[in-house]
Amino acid sequence: MGSFPEDKRFAFTIIDDTDVATVDNVLPMYRLLERLGMRTTKTVWPLACPDLQSNFVSSQTLEDPEYRDFVVDLQDRGFEIASHGASMESSERARTLEGLERMRATFGRYPAVHANHANNRENLYWGSARVDSPLLRVLYRLTLHVHDAYEGHVESSRYWWGDAARAHLRYVRNLTFADLDVSRVNPTMPYHDRRRPWVPWWFSAADAEDCAAFNRLLQRRAQNRLERRGGIAIVATHFGKGFVTDGRVNAETERLLDALTRRPGWFVPVGELLDWLRERRPGGLLPTGEWRQMQWRWFRDLVRRGLADSVRRAVRSAASAAFRGRPTPPGSAVRLQGPGRSPP
Ligand SMILES: [Zn+2]
Repeated sequence: MGSFPEDKRFAFTIIDDTDVATVDNVLPMYRLLERLGMRTTKTVWPLACPDLQSNFVSSQTLEDPEYRDFVVDLQDRGFEIASHGASMESSERARTLEGLERMRATFGRYPAVHANHANNRENLYWGSARVDSPLLRVLYRLTLHVHDAYEGHVESSRYWWGDAARAHLRYVRNLTFADLDVSRVNPTMPYHDRRRPWVPWWFSAADAEDCAAFNRLLQRRAQNRLERRGGIAIVATHFGKGFVTDGRVNAETERLLDALTRRPGWFVPVGELLDWLRERRPGGLLPTGEWRQMQWRWFRDLVRRGLADSVRRAVRSAASAAFRGRPTPPGSAVRLQGPGRSPP
C-alpha cells in the first residue's frame, strides 16, 4: 500500500534552475521527462540582464520570444514554471516587482515556487541568514568567499520585496543536502519558520549542481533506498549544465531516469507535491531538534561538496598540465563557489 496518491510508494521531482539555460540546451531534457511521464518544475528569469559581464549572460529569459514560447508550452504540457528572481544579476525592488508582474502576465498567475539565485542581493534570507546557529554563520562567512549582504527580506533596503513574496509566493527553497531522500533530514516539509516571516512556506532539496552530480545522486542504490523508505526526493539542479550535448540527453541520465520511472513513484511538480504534503500535515512548524540537525547537515554537505569539487578540479588541472608537459599550478584553498556556481 503506497503512502502517496495513486497508491505510489515514493515521490520524486526536480527543480531546474535556469542558470545558463537556453532552448537548445534544455529542451531535449523536457521532452525526455514528458516521454517518461514525469512533470517537474522549471525556474525562469522574466527579465534580460544588461550586464554583459554576468557569469550567466548566455542564459535566455522571457524577453527572448523563442524561449518564452518554449516555457509557455512547457506549462501547457503540465510542467510548473517557478521564479528564480527577476534576472540573473541583482534587482532592486521595482525590477523585482516588474518581474513578478511579467510572470503573471505570461503564465496567468504568480509563481507558487521561488528559488534564490547565486549572489543576487535581493535573495530572501540568503547567505548566513539561511541559518540561525551563530557558529555556523561565522563558519559560513569564513568559507564562502563572497559578499554576505542579501536584503530581499530587509524592509529598509532598496532590494526589499518581502511583502510581495509573502503575498504572491507559497514555497521558497532554503537548505539543500547531498542525499536524494530529503524527507530523512527534513520530515516536516514544507515548514513555516517564524524567524523568516516573509516566506509563507519553506522546502528543502537534494543538491545536484550539474549533470555529473545529478547522475551520482540518482545511482541505483539511492533509488532503491528512496523506494524502500517511501521517501521524498526534490532535486535542485541546472539542466543547462551538461545534460544535453549536440541536442542529445546524456545517456547515463536517460538510463537512470528511465529506471526510476519503472518504480512506483509519484512524479509531480514541486508545488503540487508540497501542496499535497501541506494538506496532510497542517501546522508545519519545524521542531527545534530537526532544524538544528538540518543546519549542521547542510553545512557538512556544503563543505564535503566543496572539497570534492576542489579535488576534481585539481585532478583535471593536473591531468591537463601533464598532457601539456607542464608542472601543476599550485592548489588553491577550498572554495565552495566558483564562477557561475550557485550556493547550494
Ligand atoms: Zn541560479
